[in-house]
Amino acid sequence: MQPKALRLLAGLLSLILFGACTASEEPDPLACDPDALAAALTQSLRARDSAGFEENFARSSSGQRLARQLFDNLTELNDVAVSVQPGGDKLKVTWSVDGSEHPSAHTIAPKLVNVGGRTLIMDLLDAENPPIWIYGRITVSNTKVGTLIASERVSDAQAKIWVARMAAAVVAIKKVKMGDLNAAWNQKLVVELPRDTREYQRLVNMDPAISSAATECEEGAVRIVVNPASLDVPDQVGEALMLHEAVHASTSSPCLDTGALWASEGLAEWVTTTAYKSVATSNRSIAETFIARHGMPESLPTDASFAGDKDDVAAAYALSQLAVQVAVDELGEEEALVMIGKLSRDKDALDAEQLSELTAWYLAELKKLAK
Ligand SMILES: [Zn+2]
Repeated sequence: MQPKALRLLAGLLSLILFGACTASEEPDPLACDPDALAAALTQSLRARDSAGFEENFARSSSGQRLARQLFDNLTELNDVAVSVQPGGDKLKVTWSVDGSEHPSAHTIAPKLVNVGGRTLIMDLLDAENPPIWIYGRITVSNTKVGTLIASERVSDAQAKIWVARMAAAVVAIKKVKMGDLNAAWNQKLVVELPRDTREYQRLVNMDPAISSAATECEEGAVRIVVNPASLDVPDQVGEALMLHEAVHASTSSPCLDTGALWASEGLAEWVTTTAYKSVATSNRSIAETFIARHGMPESLPTDASFAGDKDDVAAAYALSQLAVQVAVDELGEEEALVMIGKLSRDKDALDAEQLSELTAWYLAELKKLAK
């Protein structure tokens, strides 16, 4: 038999065995009923009923494996609810963890079949913005400083180290006067440690070659995702990385910052220097090298300067931190951070006079670094 004919036969067989779902306005015994499926999933999760949950998946070994993985993962989360997205072929899963300020919402794309009038999940298709729990088993650790969600590839020892870094970051942020900027923060972090760089890329949609960690916004819920390539970095590097991201998380930066990128990144980097002097030293030397190579900048860092090659991006962070530093030196911490905070939310928050004053302080500081 030709392969094509074989495939056709296989397709016919699956139709006979499962009854593929049809989309129909009329009452149709072969139509899928995603609403009933969503309700059954939510209800069985709330009841922690694993058998009831598994009944919503195809009997195939892959279907049942998926069911067990999702049940184990989702019962580690809080307030999980499944609903149907408009259009009917995708499900929305809302969930939270103890450290969350707001529930997260993710869309998953199940491959559905109708078996004997019941809608079952055969498989999950690629989702645009996937949650960490669709990939493999996760472990959720709830602590006083927030929640760590780690893939099964993260050891207990590694998880412990990252929880300690979360705690150090929370302590460091509490010492900084950020005023209204993080007044609504619950003083907790939600951190994810995915399995590999590919998964990291899927979760944060960033190039894992240039991004060590990212802070993401999910409909108001903020989470920090660490690149697995950074899982075993030296302690101080890991602590500084966590603190930088924790500043973004505490200010809801990925949800609210629509202003100047240098202000958001400079603030995160500047707070990091308050706890780790080595970051300030290394940023000064990065800025020196940049000026030696490219000459004196003429303005504060632009958004575009964060999108160059690895060295340019490192320079953009270093220069942004220096810009915040000069503002703090000139105005004092409280007043400077109010101003930087406003700029991080709105590019046009300052009048022309304030902006030219800030630019002048910044360029005068950079002049000292030029040789
Ligand atoms: Zn950042």
